[in-house]
Amino acid sequence: SEYETLINIAVNQATIAIGSAIQSQFAIQDRLTMIYNHDYFVQRLKEELFRCNRYKLKLSLIMLDIDHFKSFNDTYGHIAGNYILRESARLFQSNTRITDIVARYGGEEFAILMTETGVSDAVNIAEKIRETIQNYPFEYDGQKLHVTISIGVSEWDGAKDPQIDDISLIDSADKKLYEAKKTGRNKVCF
Ligand code: GH3
Ligand code: MG
Ligand code: MG
Repeated sequence: SEYETLINIAVNQATIAIGSAIQSQFAIQDRLTMIYNHDYFVQRLKEELFRCNRYKLKLSLIMLDIDHFKSFNDTYGHIAGNYILRESARLFQSNTRITDIVARYGGEEFAILMTETGVSDAVNIAEKIRETIQNYPFEYDGQKLHVTISIGVSEWDGAKDPQIDDISLIDSADKKLYEAKKTGRNKVCF
Protein backbone atom coordinates (compact mmCIF):
# COMPACT_ATOMS: atom_id res chain seq x y z
CA SER A 1 0.00 0.00 0.00
CA GLU A 2 0.92 3.66 -0.24
CA TYR A 3 1.30 3.86 3.53
CA GLU A 4 3.74 0.96 3.55
CA THR A 5 5.81 2.58 0.79
CA LEU A 6 6.05 5.78 2.81
CA ILE A 7 7.21 3.90 5.91
CA ASN A 8 9.85 2.07 3.86
CA ILE A 9 11.17 5.36 2.50
CA ALA A 10 11.33 6.84 6.01
CA VAL A 11 13.15 3.77 7.38
CA ASN A 12 15.67 3.87 4.52
CA GLN A 13 16.35 7.56 5.08
CA ALA A 14 16.82 7.03 8.82
CA THR A 15 19.21 4.12 8.18
CA ILE A 16 21.32 6.27 5.87
CA ALA A 17 21.35 9.15 8.37
CA ILE A 18 22.39 6.92 11.29
CA GLY A 19 25.01 5.22 9.12
CA SER A 20 26.62 8.48 8.10
CA ALA A 21 26.54 9.80 11.69
CA ILE A 22 28.41 6.68 12.83
CA GLN A 23 30.80 7.06 9.90
CA SER A 24 31.65 10.67 10.77
CA GLN A 25 32.05 9.78 14.46
CA PHE A 26 34.64 7.14 13.57
CA ALA A 27 36.48 9.67 11.42
CA ILE A 28 37.64 11.21 14.70
CA GLN A 29 37.27 8.36 17.21
CA ASP A 30 39.31 5.19 17.72
CA ARG A 31 36.99 2.18 17.50
CA LEU A 32 38.70 0.09 20.18
CA THR A 33 39.25 2.65 22.94
CA MET A 34 36.56 5.19 21.99
CA ILE A 35 38.96 8.09 22.50
CA TYR A 36 40.20 10.38 19.69
CA ASN A 37 42.18 8.79 16.87
CA HIS A 38 45.59 9.66 15.42
CA ASP A 39 44.33 11.88 12.58
CA TYR A 40 42.09 13.98 14.77
CA PHE A 41 44.90 14.41 17.30
CA VAL A 42 47.37 15.69 14.70
CA GLN A 43 44.77 18.07 13.27
CA ARG A 44 43.99 19.51 16.72
CA LEU A 45 47.69 19.81 17.56
CA LYS A 46 48.29 21.84 14.39
CA GLU A 47 45.39 24.15 15.24
CA GLU A 48 46.51 24.56 18.86
CA LEU A 49 50.06 25.43 17.78
CA PHE A 50 48.68 28.22 15.58
CA ARG A 51 46.51 29.45 18.43
CA CYS A 52 49.40 29.41 20.92
CA ASN A 53 51.57 31.32 18.50
CA ARG A 54 48.85 33.91 17.87
CA TYR A 55 48.01 34.49 21.55
CA LYS A 56 51.45 33.75 23.05
CA LEU A 57 50.23 30.76 25.08
CA LYS A 58 52.00 27.57 26.07
CA LEU A 59 50.96 23.97 25.63
CA SER A 60 52.35 20.60 26.65
CA LEU A 61 52.40 17.30 24.84
CA ILE A 62 52.52 13.94 26.62
CA MET A 63 53.35 10.69 24.82
CA LEU A 64 52.57 7.46 26.72
CA ASP A 65 53.53 3.91 25.79
CA ILE A 66 52.60 0.70 27.59
CA ASP A 67 55.66 -1.18 28.84
CA HIS A 68 56.34 -4.64 27.41
CA PHE A 69 52.86 -4.68 25.93
CA LYS A 70 53.78 -7.41 23.48
CA SER A 71 54.34 -9.82 26.36
CA PHE A 72 50.70 -9.36 27.54
CA ASN A 73 49.49 -10.28 24.06
CA ASP A 74 51.88 -13.23 23.90
CA THR A 75 51.04 -14.52 27.39
CA TYR A 76 47.29 -13.84 27.70
CA GLY A 77 46.16 -13.33 24.09
CA HIS A 78 45.26 -10.23 22.14
CA ILE A 79 41.78 -9.93 23.70
CA ALA A 80 43.54 -9.36 27.02
CA GLY A 81 45.76 -6.82 25.25
CA ASN A 82 42.67 -5.04 23.93
CA TYR A 83 41.22 -4.93 27.43
CA ILE A 84 44.41 -3.23 28.72
CA LEU A 85 44.23 -0.67 25.88
CA ARG A 86 40.57 0.16 26.56
CA GLU A 87 40.99 0.39 30.32
CA SER A 88 44.18 2.48 30.06
CA ALA A 89 42.47 4.92 27.66
CA ARG A 90 39.62 5.31 30.14
CA LEU A 91 42.09 6.02 32.98
CA PHE A 92 43.99 8.59 30.87
CA GLN A 93 40.72 10.33 30.11
CA SER A 94 39.52 10.35 33.71
CA ASN A 95 42.84 11.74 34.98
CA THR A 96 42.88 14.74 32.63
CA ARG A 97 40.84 17.89 32.09
CA ILE A 98 37.88 18.13 29.75
CA THR A 99 39.93 20.61 27.65
CA ASP A 100 42.81 18.14 27.16
CA ILE A 101 42.88 16.10 23.97
CA VAL A 102 43.42 12.42 24.81
CA ALA A 103 44.09 10.18 21.80
CA ARG A 104 45.28 6.76 20.72
CA TYR A 105 48.32 7.73 18.68
CA GLY A 106 48.83 4.22 17.33
CA GLY A 107 49.06 0.62 18.57
CA GLU A 108 49.79 0.84 22.30
CA GLU A 109 50.98 4.44 22.19
CA PHE A 110 48.80 7.31 23.38
CA ALA A 111 49.08 11.10 23.29
CA ILE A 112 47.65 13.86 25.44
CA LEU A 113 47.64 17.50 24.39
CA MET A 114 47.31 19.92 27.30
CA THR A 115 46.34 23.39 26.20
CA GLU A 116 47.52 26.38 28.23
CA THR A 117 49.61 24.09 30.41
CA GLY A 118 53.32 24.44 31.13
CA VAL A 119 55.76 21.56 31.44
CA SER A 120 55.83 21.44 35.26
CA ASP A 121 52.02 21.05 35.51
CA ALA A 122 52.08 18.52 32.66
CA VAL A 123 54.78 16.49 34.41
CA ASN A 124 52.70 16.43 37.61
CA ILE A 125 49.70 15.08 35.71
CA ALA A 126 51.89 12.59 33.83
CA GLU A 127 53.26 11.34 37.15
CA LYS A 128 49.72 10.98 38.54
CA ILE A 129 48.71 8.99 35.44
CA ARG A 130 51.81 6.77 35.70
CA GLU A 131 50.97 5.96 39.35
CA THR A 132 47.30 5.37 38.53
CA ILE A 133 48.20 2.76 35.90
CA GLN A 134 50.81 1.13 38.14
CA ASN A 135 48.28 0.76 40.98
CA TYR A 136 45.21 -0.11 38.92
CA PRO A 137 43.94 -3.67 39.47
CA PHE A 138 43.91 -4.85 35.85
CA GLU A 139 42.38 -8.31 35.79
CA TYR A 140 41.69 -10.53 32.83
CA ASP A 141 40.07 -13.96 33.00
CA GLY A 142 40.68 -14.13 36.75
CA GLN A 143 44.38 -13.26 36.39
CA LYS A 144 45.93 -10.08 37.75
CA LEU A 145 47.97 -8.11 35.19
CA HIS A 146 50.67 -5.72 36.34
CA VAL A 147 50.70 -2.90 33.80
CA THR A 148 53.11 0.06 33.70
CA ILE A 149 53.68 2.88 31.22
CA SER A 150 56.57 5.10 30.17
CA ILE A 151 55.93 8.78 29.47
CA GLY A 152 57.68 11.60 27.60
CA VAL A 153 56.66 15.25 28.06
CA SER A 154 57.51 18.31 25.99
CA GLU A 155 56.37 21.92 26.10
CA TRP A 156 56.01 24.70 23.57
CA ASP A 157 55.78 28.29 24.75
CA GLY A 158 54.31 30.71 22.22
CA ALA A 159 55.74 33.68 24.14
CA LYS A 160 59.38 32.66 23.80
CA ASP A 161 60.01 29.52 21.72
CA PRO A 162 60.65 29.76 17.97
CA GLN A 163 57.76 28.55 15.79
CA ILE A 164 57.68 24.77 15.36
CA ASP A 165 55.40 22.33 13.57
CA ASP A 166 53.38 19.43 14.95
CA ILE A 167 55.94 16.86 13.81
CA SER A 168 58.81 18.50 15.73
CA LEU A 169 56.80 18.70 18.96
CA ILE A 170 55.71 15.05 18.69
CA ASP A 171 59.30 14.14 17.91
CA SER A 172 60.64 15.87 21.01
CA ALA A 173 58.07 14.15 23.31
CA ASP A 174 58.89 10.86 21.58
CA LYS A 175 62.61 11.33 22.33
CA LYS A 176 61.77 11.81 26.02
CA LEU A 177 59.61 8.70 25.92
CA TYR A 178 62.49 6.77 24.39
CA GLU A 179 64.74 8.04 27.20
CA ALA A 180 62.18 6.76 29.78
CA LYS A 181 62.22 3.35 28.07
CA LYS A 182 66.01 3.22 27.94
CA THR A 183 66.49 4.22 31.56
CA GLY A 184 64.23 1.63 33.19
CA ARG A 185 60.56 2.17 32.03
CA ASN A 186 57.61 3.00 34.36
CA LYS A 187 58.81 6.62 34.54
CA VAL A 188 58.26 10.14 33.24
CA CYS A 189 61.01 12.00 31.33
CA PHE A 190 60.87 15.66 30.25
P1 GH3 B 1 58.24 -1.46 25.09
O1 GH3 B 1 58.23 -1.62 26.57
O2 GH3 B 1 59.60 -1.18 24.57
O3 GH3 B 1 57.23 -0.43 24.62
O4 GH3 B 1 57.81 -2.87 24.47
P2 GH3 B 1 56.41 -3.29 23.84
O5 GH3 B 1 56.31 -4.76 23.87
O6 GH3 B 1 55.31 -2.54 24.52
O7 GH3 B 1 56.51 -2.69 22.38
P3 GH3 B 1 56.46 -3.36 20.95
O8 GH3 B 1 56.43 -2.19 20.00
O9 GH3 B 1 57.51 -4.38 20.79
O10 GH3 B 1 55.07 -4.10 20.88
C1 GH3 B 1 53.87 -3.45 20.71
C2 GH3 B 1 52.80 -4.48 20.51
O11 GH3 B 1 51.50 -3.90 20.48
C3 GH3 B 1 52.94 -5.22 19.21
C4 GH3 B 1 51.53 -5.23 18.62
O12 GH3 B 1 51.16 -6.51 18.21
C5 GH3 B 1 50.67 -4.78 19.77
N1 GH3 B 1 49.44 -4.09 19.36
C6 GH3 B 1 49.33 -3.00 18.56
N2 GH3 B 1 48.03 -2.67 18.41
C7 GH3 B 1 47.29 -3.56 19.12
C8 GH3 B 1 45.88 -3.75 19.34
O13 GH3 B 1 45.01 -3.01 18.86
N3 GH3 B 1 45.51 -4.78 20.16
C9 GH3 B 1 46.42 -5.61 20.72
N4 GH3 B 1 45.98 -6.58 21.52
N5 GH3 B 1 47.74 -5.48 20.52
C10 GH3 B 1 48.18 -4.47 19.73
MG1 MG C 1 55.16 -0.43 24.44
MG1 MG D 1 55.11 1.34 21.23
